[in-house]
Amino acid sequence: MKKKLIVGNWKMNGSLAANESLVQALRAGLSGGAACSVALAAPAPYLAQLQALCAGSCIEIAAQDVSQHEAGAYTGEVAAAMLRDFGVRYVLVGHSERRQFHGENDAAVAEKAQRALAAGITPIVCVGETLAEREAGQTEAVVRRQLAAVIHVNGRCISEVVVAYEPVWAIGTGKTATPAQAQEVHAALRAQLAAATVHAGAVRLLYGGSMNAANAAQLLAEADIDGGLVGGASLKAPDFLSIIAAAH
Ligand code: PEP
Repeated sequence: MKKKLIVGNWKMNGSLAANESLVQALRAGLSGGAACSVALAAPAPYLAQLQALCAGSCIEIAAQDVSQHEAGAYTGEVAAAMLRDFGVRYVLVGHSERRQFHGENDAAVAEKAQRALAAGITPIVCVGETLAEREAGQTEAVVRRQLAAVIHVNGRCISEVVVAYEPVWAIGTGKTATPAQAQEVHAALRAQLAAATVHAGAVRLLYGGSMNAANAAQLLAEADIDGGLVGGASLKAPDFLSIIAAAH
């Protein structure tokens, strides 16, 4: 059976001192191991620090973004091969904050996923509808379009990805999708994958959007929810540890 995966997305938060105390607290809490896989997505300047802080622990390193280009004259960008140099195992692609504030479209997200895979990094492909799209009954169409753009390459389906369903209206708002709402979308994503690959059952589908210590267990109990992408609650060690404990 596949292990659940809990990923903390620090977003643009942290400092050398704060990261150190947070990771030390997480390591202490996880000294007996974890039933699930755990990763932390830090801002790029802190990846080297995170690599050192997590060495010898069960915590894996994730990045929050990657360039769609391989190398060269792209000032400010970070290439997948550079992330790999710092032991990065996962990278978020297409987070709604990147789509919304940095103009990322489906084609760019697909290119980023390809660059990650070519460097041996697993992309965590974020999909999700806005409130207006949900109210217009477009949820399934939106997430299917976003996922299709990434998984269909040259006539074949890529299944070496993690998918994170993150309803935009639930991210950082304190509003969580109900377990039933989340499961409904996850089941649709699983069916979409199953139509394209025999490996659909092995793809981990994470839920993200105000997941916290109080609601994690219920969400993670749903049949097609294989883990969580956790923003705000990943910055507080006790909360993040409770979410990890709920993922078994
Ligand atoms: C996220 O940043 O991916 C996220 C889900 O944030 P939050 O948990 O704060 O809603």
